[in-house]
Amino acid sequence: MIDLRNLTIEKAHEHFKSGDFTVTDLVNEYLKVIKEKNGDINAYLEVYNDVLDQARVAEGMFKNGTATLMTGIPLALKDNMLYKGHIASASSKILENYVATYDSFIVKQLKTQGVVFLGRTNMDEFAMGSSTETSAYGNTKNPIDTSRVPGGSSGGSVAALAMDGALVSLGSDTGGSIRQPAAFCGLVGLKPTYGAVSRFGIISMGSSLDQVGTFGKTVEDAETLFNAINGYDEKDSTSVKKEERIQPLPLKKKIGVPRSFLSGDGIESDILKNFEENCKRLEKAGYEIVDISLPLIKYSLAVYYIISPAEVSSNLARYDGIRYGLHEGADKLYEVYTKSRGKGFGKEVRRRILLGTYILSHGYYDAYYNTAIKVRHAIKEELKNAFKEVDAIITPTSPFMPFKFGEKLSDPVGMYLSDLFSVPANIADIPAISIPSGKNSEGLPFGLHIMAPLFREDILFTIGKDFEKLV
Ligand code: GLN
Repeated sequence: MIDLRNLTIEKAHEHFKSGDFTVTDLVNEYLKVIKEKNGDINAYLEVYNDVLDQARVAEGMFKNGTATLMTGIPLALKDNMLYKGHIASASSKILENYVATYDSFIVKQLKTQGVVFLGRTNMDEFAMGSSTETSAYGNTKNPIDTSRVPGGSSGGSVAALAMDGALVSLGSDTGGSIRQPAAFCGLVGLKPTYGAVSRFGIISMGSSLDQVGTFGKTVEDAETLFNAINGYDEKDSTSVKKEERIQPLPLKKKIGVPRSFLSGDGIESDILKNFEENCKRLEKAGYEIVDISLPLIKYSLAVYYIISPAEVSSNLARYDGIRYGLHEGADKLYEVYTKSRGKGFGKEVRRRILLGTYILSHGYYDAYYNTAIKVRHAIKEELKNAFKEVDAIITPTSPFMPFKFGEKLSDPVGMYLSDLFSVPANIADIPAISIPSGKNSEGLPFGLHIMAPLFREDILFTIGKDFEKLV
């Protein structure tokens, strides 16, 4: 029996090298857990049929001396990441049988390092949601408390890890889809800087906000996986070259707290109490905690719910019933579109398309879209200035604890509030991480959210590792 709960990338690597167990042994352990638990949790939509072949390739790399730290590490992919020859459905009916014809950049990178892709995980349809309840393939349960949601949209990727059904996993984050589920399931979730990881081969939601990121049980695992996928890709025009990225500078050991942002409505008192404890922990670790004023940051959520639906409405126009996936036959071309899209898209996706189409329509474009773009710019400047004084900015990850199924599904605006603290990082393109910060009396996890300047993921890892030791 392998102690999966306490296994990290580094430990697994040591075991592979010393011969304590092989990649196949480890993969078989995970397959066993998945078989036992996935029927109930529904973290995976599919376990790939070539898992053991992949394990053998990794073992070959250990034999011929080409193995790296990531070789043989069993990983879960989110259902919006293309892996050649396998289905990627974005948990939507419209892409139910869509088989990827090429590898996404991240899959290609990891393949050459001998990573083992275990399967694809459930998510909110096209990554729109905060609970994984908008998936066309059923709910994913939170392994910590199965009456509650795992968060979303990368709910399957975190649940896979939380149930010990993978060593690490990948998610995507447009407004919080990595960090909020990480907080809900007691794991570490990293959203890198926009442009750090290629979006090539990732099914788009909001192209100016989407970013692939990593989940791990420890900050170090999230960091190691990030290092394995981080890099320039000429196939993504928004990918940033290494030499154009900001170089690390020494830390000031000063962290900012945007006090007025924490006094808004809808933030649970337990969350605020935990946050104050987290500030004390960081002080203990030698950081100075200072109040900072960010008067514009509270508009991030409104800006996000204008820009993201606008981008959704144009990105999802490609699903016309002809080029990809589900096709409904009809006499007239227009009816092919309406029938296929009507049948293929779920309620939340249709809501966002309608909203986005309205926002971009003649007569409203200036009032909504252009205004939001201007405010986005102002928020970016505000954060950039704040980072002249402090290394990082902290808040809770989510304004509320993991909620029960159905609790917020009929209240879209209540659901959108999940993104209150996570969305500013997407608006400003900056990196952010969620780190477990203890549990409430019911055993449900809290998360600490840390934001850093552009391309300064190193700050998140440094503070994260210092913090992790004190929880
Ligand atoms: N919860 C947010 C939304 O529904 C964020 C989703 C995401 O990051 N993909 O849009």
